[in-house]
Amino acid sequence: MTKALFLIDSYLKESPATVLSMKNGKYVTLDQTIFYPRGGGQPHDMGKIIKGDEVFNVVYVGKFSGEISHEVDHAGLQVGDNVYCVLNWERRYKLMRSHTAAHVLAALLNKGTGALITGNQLGEDHVRFDFSLEKFDRVLLESYLAKANELFGTDVPVKWYELSREEAMKIPGVVKMAAAFPPDLPALRIVEIVGVDRQADGGTHVRNLKEVGKVELVKTENKGKNNRRIYFKLN
Ligand SMILES: [Zn+2]
Repeated sequence: MTKALFLIDSYLKESPATVLSMKNGKYVTLDQTIFYPRGGGQPHDMGKIIKGDEVFNVVYVGKFSGEISHEVDHAGLQVGDNVYCVLNWERRYKLMRSHTAAHVLAALLNKGTGALITGNQLGEDHVRFDFSLEKFDRVLLESYLAKANELFGTDVPVKWYELSREEAMKIPGVVKMAAAFPPDLPALRIVEIVGVDRQADGGTHVRNLKEVGKVELVKTENKGKNNRRIYFKLN
């Protein structure tokens, strides 16, 4: 079983690891990893796995049957190899910032309008956000973005820790995704933006809202009766 280092410290950019298994010469599992596997609306990480002088580019990371699998661009890694992993940090850090921004926006919208998030997809350039809301206009939305931007300029810590499932489920709004339910585990990972939001969540986030910067609305769409879609981006 791979130890998911990104859940403990999302700022780890490099780490040693040992190859646990290989499939078809290019699907690698490791004893521990800094690479986030695609999931929960957050894209997979990219980067490289280095063995001696040889560099294997990590082109995809996914979770299959509970195991984190890294796809590399060519064959050559073997079970038992001691390797060194390096993240494409620029990409990851942008995703951490936009992921954290998405939490704040979801929390403000949920608190102010009762809207539930029905889907979200983080991208390197923009974030897509779907939510259910009957009354909707751009002016209202801009006001929520303005509120969020105010928060992004201030010193607000973001923490992550585990809580027992029982305790976690007592937090109001701990699950803001419509139709989502936390994994069936005895302990849940909670991401807390102090004074703003607490979510059960397995993604990577920045440590302080000051790191987010500013966000900007790109466009809005109506996707049916109560379904709204917005795109925003980091500035
Ligand atoms: Zn998150």
